[in-house]
Amino acid sequence: MFEIGKPLGKGKFGRVYLAKDKVTGFVCALKVLHKKELQAAKVEKQLRREIEIQSNLRHPNILRLFGHFHDSSRVFLILEFAGQGELYKILRKAGKFDEPTAASYIAQMASALGYLHKKHVIHRDIKPENILVGIQGEIKLSDFGWSVHAPTNRRQTMCGTLDYLPPEMLDGTAAYNEKVDLWSLGVLAYEFLVGAAPFEDEPVKTQKRIVKGDMSVPSWVSREARDLIMRLLQTNPDKRIPLSEVEKHPWIVRHCAPAAVADEIPRGVAPKRSGSGSASLGPKVAERTRPLQKERE
Ligand code: AMP
Repeated sequence: MFEIGKPLGKGKFGRVYLAKDKVTGFVCALKVLHKKELQAAKVEKQLRREIEIQSNLRHPNILRLFGHFHDSSRVFLILEFAGQGELYKILRKAGKFDEPTAASYIAQMASALGYLHKKHVIHRDIKPENILVGIQGEIKLSDFGWSVHAPTNRRQTMCGTLDYLPPEMLDGTAAYNEKVDLWSLGVLAYEFLVGAAPFEDEPVKTQKRIVKGDMSVPSWVSREARDLIMRLLQTNPDKRIPLSEVEKHPWIVRHCAPAAVADEIPRGVAPKRSGSGSASLGPKVAERTRPLQKERE
């Protein structure tokens, strides 16, 4: 039995509350989803897949799903509590991150993705909205609603949010593999450092620019960071730098202590953010989320 505490947030299908196990005192986040809404949106199968995949993952930078239960009208997910909440909000507030903070986050993401890919899981929806932050400032990758367990490593469904979609997923006919997450990692690194996504434009233009890899990194971003971004944002998936090399890249090595890039070590307290602010980016960072599919709204 759980004692329900303050609301932590609201998603498309329900609310998330801070909760405490009455017997053990264990603190977690309880996500409450309404069956009727899940049925109406035809996402029951997606939820089942999300539960099956996420409950089997154990990594310090991946949000734990401890279990689930249901009553006649609701499904409850027992999730690890991420004390600092959504990375999206932290990024919007800061405007952009300084290089040590961005590098630490990217190193943690690379570690999480390396773990997933070894288990033949492709996340497919990497973006700041799907990353939570733990109380120590550590990354907690979440939202496995679009992830797939792909033993064959070839998938053909189109999903995700436009700004983060790799070229091979825009071309609905082409098969793709786990390298889609490498592209999104490049978009993420860019957005952390610049404060806006690299292909941000009107939707049709964004698509065209993604396919051509039409972007440039501002000159005030360090040469090393630019190098990593460009190696990830390769339109040819086979040319993207592999995750094992991301962790050894000079930009990561420069900013992250060796322990923070070694496997299996609970990592990554991100260095204190010196929120560089959005002043240099103009009055406001454009609102994102131009979903390809309604349920991502
Ligand atoms: P979601 O339905 O997963 O999009 O969650 C809605 C909101 O609740 C998120 O944007 C977060 O602000 C918050 N939230 C969700 N899960 C957690 C968690 N495990 N720990 C802390 N906050 C959470």
